[in-house]
Amino acid sequence: MNILVIEDNEQNLYLVRFLMEARGHRIVEARDGPEGIATAQTALPDLILLDIQLPQMDGYAVARALRENSALDGVPIVAVTSYAMNGDQVKALAAGCDGYLEKPIDPDTFPIQVEAAAAAGRRSQEGAA
Ligand code: MN
Repeated sequence: MNILVIEDNEQNLYLVRFLMEARGHRIVEARDGPEGIATAQTALPDLILLDIQLPQMDGYAVARALRENSALDGVPIVAVTSYAMNGDQVKALAAGCDGYLEKPIDPDTFPIQVEAAAAAGRRSQEGAA
């Protein structure tokens, strides 16, 4: 699948690209929120991996902006953040994300979790907790 990765940390970008390309996926990169929003519009990816700690606008604001674009209605957004607190998970879901993965990225589980999130697709609006 085509995956848009919105992430400002080069090491994380490299790791995500390495892990996902090894499983046959294609990566499009954006290094901040505005670039990510613009790239999502043109690339129409199958899934978006969204860092929460970004310069300029944080991942929550990026998620809200992405959710205003009806062209992306069917595209799951998975938040990726080093914050391990439950409140951030709730905030990510409230902002329009469909799932949540924690850093540091575990190379053994991360690609499988990303693929599972893609298979699960968008959260049902009614069923959302
Ligand atoms: Mn970051």
